[in-house]
Amino acid sequence: MVAELISVGTEILLGNITNTNARYLSEQCAALGLSCYYQVTVGDNEARLKAAVREALTRSDVIILTGGLGPTNDDLTKEAVAAVLGLPLAEDAHTRERIEDYFNHGIRRAPTENNWKQALVPEGAIVVDNHNGTAPGLILKTQDHKLIILLPGPPGELYPMFEQDIKPYLSKLTPEIIYSRTVKIGGMGESYVADAIKDILASQTNPTIAPYAKTGEVHLRVTARAASKKEAKAMMRPMILELKKRFGSNIFTTREDVTLEGKLVEMLKRYGLTVTTAESCSGGLLSGRLVNVPGASDVLHQCFVTYANSAKHRLLGVKNSTLKKHGAVSRQTAKAMAGGAAKAAGADVALAITGIAGPDGGSEEKPVGLVYIGCYVRGYTEVVECHFSGNRAKVREASVARAIDLGRRCVMKYGRK
Ligand code: ATP
Ligand code: MG
Repeated sequence: MVAELISVGTEILLGNITNTNARYLSEQCAALGLSCYYQVTVGDNEARLKAAVREALTRSDVIILTGGLGPTNDDLTKEAVAAVLGLPLAEDAHTRERIEDYFNHGIRRAPTENNWKQALVPEGAIVVDNHNGTAPGLILKTQDHKLIILLPGPPGELYPMFEQDIKPYLSKLTPEIIYSRTVKIGGMGESYVADAIKDILASQTNPTIAPYAKTGEVHLRVTARAASKKEAKAMMRPMILELKKRFGSNIFTTREDVTLEGKLVEMLKRYGLTVTTAESCSGGLLSGRLVNVPGASDVLHQCFVTYANSAKHRLLGVKNSTLKKHGAVSRQTAKAMAGGAAKAAGADVALAITGIAGPDGGSEEKPVGLVYIGCYVRGYTEVVECHFSGNRAKVREASVARAIDLGRRCVMKYGRK
């Protein structure tokens, strides 16, 4: 079944708000086995809204509209849909009662005259109660068995309504479910990953596999269509095993809720290790990402931001001769920063970043984007030389992702006590 989303609101078109409802609903449709082929955004304009609904009816089976169900004059989704279907609006007694109740016992203020507009519903509509606002959701069936679903715009009203009532309703229509798992790979480029699975990418049917690149990570989303979750899981098992065979320890997780930094913290906890950071061009971004992990305080007690050479010397004990001979951005300095930070913080593991984030400061020999990342683990140190592209922010982010991945690899190698 083909689904189509119509997001209503001039503020979305103007870029004043992000269309998070569409993202939420597309994800939900996919999980329900509905094929979402079209997403349309239209402003608060009756003629264009009607045109969008007419167009959607020519190509989609389930049309979900959000927004424009409020009490004011520029809220006209319901009126436009009713007009397209040729349905009169009539007051729904139950909704009027619910709105009265919402004002009397809920927000305890008097309704305004235009609030009663929200009790008007198109003839034959299934009314879905809104437990977090006044505008009800509406489900309409057309003569040729298409569904039009109208939902309120505010996410705080939309999500609970969808979860509680719309999802169960739609799941009865679709015999299939869609189930996905994500295989997350650290420290490899997207094109390298795609090349390593090009045979699978070329022959995929069900399950399918889709690569998705994040800074410093590649996610492979494996999706199966089946009658049940159990069946879908069984269908995707051989493909996930094959990916594990091909990528081995480059895969850091196959769990949805595990991040790269979360994985590192989990490993440090498991091995009973503490970590510190020594950051030059990333300026605290690395420690910030580690601190984002709940429970990071178990393994992280102290970090260093050492931007100037003098700070690298004073706080981390990097020798002035090293800095002078090889420069702040060098393999030797990265190594000395990592070892020095571990010593100064009394930590088992240290991650160090030194590089040229740009836009200035590059040279022929040491261009913008050149970053050395060091990792010290219980007496062993590895340093990698990286060449990142992009602006200052991108270079800093890429450095941090690579440092966390290097930490994960080194802890795997040297971390066991
Ligand atoms: P209200 O009763 O509040 O007027 P409504 O159903 O008429 O609700 P809109 O007026 O279109 O909805 O939007 C109300 C608010 O809901 C917006 O200001 C915005 O904060 C949020 N909203 C609307 N549409 C979206 C969307 N597509 N994605 C995210 N938020 C949205
Ligand atoms: Mg509104």
